[in-house]
Order: sequence, then structure tokens, then C-alpha cells
Amino acid sequence: MWRNFEYAVPATLSEAIALLRRQDARPVAGGTDLTMHLRAGVVSPAHLVDLSGLGLNYIRTDGETVKIGAMTTVAALLAAAEIGRNFPALLEAALEFGSVQTRNMATVGGNLCSAVPSADLAPPLLVLGAQVRLAGAGGDRALPLTGFFTGPRQTVLRPAEILTEIELPLPPPRSGSSFLKLGRRNAMTLAIVNAAAFIALEEDGRTVRTARLALGAVAPTPIRATNAETLLRGRPLSDSLIEEAAAAAALQT
Ligand SMILES: Cc1cc2nc3c(=O)[nH]c(=O)nc-3n(C[C@H](O)[C@H](O)[C@H](O)COP(=O)(O)OP(=O)(O)OC[C@H]3O[C@@H](n4cnc5c(N)ncnc54)[C@H](O)[C@@H]3O)c2cc1C
Repeated sequence: MWRNFEYAVPATLSEAIALLRRQDARPVAGGTDLTMHLRAGVVSPAHLVDLSGLGLNYIRTDGETVKIGAMTTVAALLAAAEIGRNFPALLEAALEFGSVQTRNMATVGGNLCSAVPSADLAPPLLVLGAQVRLAGAGGDRALPLTGFFTGPRQTVLRPAEILTEIELPLPPPRSGSSFLKLGRRNAMTLAIVNAAAFIALEEDGRTVRTARLALGAVAPTPIRATNAETLLRGRPLSDSLIEEAAAAAALQT
């Protein structure tokens, strides 16, 4: 049974933040996650604040950074040339994401703020070195995505704070990234396990300069497999090293 709620569509961030400061107010982005919880009675806000009027639906390159507005949909990620060209792991996660209908509605910000351990966009964004921008009554702040998740469905977001933007550094030369999702066949549901990797090589084209690995649905939050990252760094990449790193990643807690 749905509780009656007031629905507001503010046109500015400051208006949205003011509306969210009311008792029992909650932001809504694409609504794909929140609607399920409203239906199930898991949450019953008195006020819903729709973020669609805030101009947060964009992907743009600014110098060495690609900026993704929090209201950018998964479908928009798939359509953006700068995502496919620079961030294969993110593109692959978007390709594996739900159904066409879900991809058309689900937003990048909503996926991160839902903070479920299996959120498909979290591992690629973690390995791609994402930083998130938050706006609240106390002003704006930015932090690495690694510091965003605090537990299942929990983040560092303060009351009335809004995730506005995700920033990704353009990848260096001799680097690549990838995403894999293990899910139930024919089921457009959440991942059983998902994983992403980013590797940058030294000028010799063999030695690992940077390794970032992330896993989802294996811990209370999406996590970086730092054991395996340390093991890879500074060593020539080979099949046996990759197997060693995979074994280390499996032991990450
Ligand atoms: C059929 C179906 C299939 C799905 N498949 C997948 C899948 O394959 N992979 C996957 O990862 N997920 C999947 N999901 C889950 C869901 O679609 C995603 O997590 C989606 O990205 C949520 O985004 P949204 O814009 O719909 O968020 P919403 O439902 O609008 O919001 C989610 C939560 O985040 C908060 N929030 C949203 N945006 C912000 C913001 N900018 N600032 C602060 N708080 C915010 C809301 O208050 C709410 O608590 C699926 C869901 C359904 C129903």
C-alpha cells in the first residue's frame, strides 16, 4: 500500500536541497529502484523530489576529465562516443544492464546512490578512478568513489545531499579496462558477481604501471581488490600473473 506523498519537480539545485530538507523527503531519479521499494513498503516518504529538472543529464569532456551528470541514463552512456572510446568497462556494464526499458530510465547517480552491493556501474567507475560531486545545504564537496559506499544501501550522503556529477580522468596511453557480470541466464536481475579491471602499462608495453580491480556483490559494498592490485603492480603482465592476481582477488575481504 502506497502512502500518499507530495511530488515536486524543482528547477534548481538550491530549490531541490531546500525541498529535501523537509521531514521524510527523498530524491527520485529514474525511479527504477525507488518505485520497487515504495511498492514493497520498504520506504514511505512524505515528499518525493524529482531531480529531472536540474540539468544533470549530460556527458561532456572538460580538459582531461569526462564529466557525467548524475541524471544521465544508462541508455545515454551507451549512445555516447566518449564513453565507448575511453571507458570500455563502463560501456560493457551499460550493455549488461537490465532491459531496454530499465536502461532508458535508470540513471548513473541512482545506481550509485542505491548503493546495493551488486550495482553494475560501481565496479567500472571504481576502477576508472571516478570522483563524485555532492551538493548539499552546507555547500559542495568532491570525493573519490572509493570513499562513497559505507554499507548495503548506505553511502556518505548527508540528509538532503544530492549526487550531482561523476568525474572520470581520461585514461593514459597503453591502458585498457573491462567489465564482466555473472548473472542468471535469461533473467534481467541483479548480478551474482560483477567485476571490473583497469590496467595501464609502462612504456615497455609489458610491465604493469597501474592496476585497479573492483568486485561487486561479494561484500557489503562494491570493493577494490587491493591485494591483487599490489601483486600486479611493477610486474610484467603474463597469463600466470593474471591467474595469480585472480586468486588473490578471490581472497579479498
Ligand atoms: C527490472 C529491473 C532490472 C534492473 N537491472 C539492473 C541491472 O542489471 N544492474 C543494476 O545495477 N541495477 C539494476 N536494477 C536496479 C536499478 O535499476 C538501478 O540501480 C538504477 O541505476 C537506479 O537508478 P534510478 O535512476 O532508477 O534510481 P532511483 O530509483 O530513482 O533512486 C535510487 C535511490 O537513489 C537515490 N538517488 C537517486 N539519485 C540520486 C542523486 N542524484 N542524489 C542522491 N540520491 C539519489 C534515491 O533517493 C533512491 O534512494 C534493475 C531494476 C529493475 C526494476
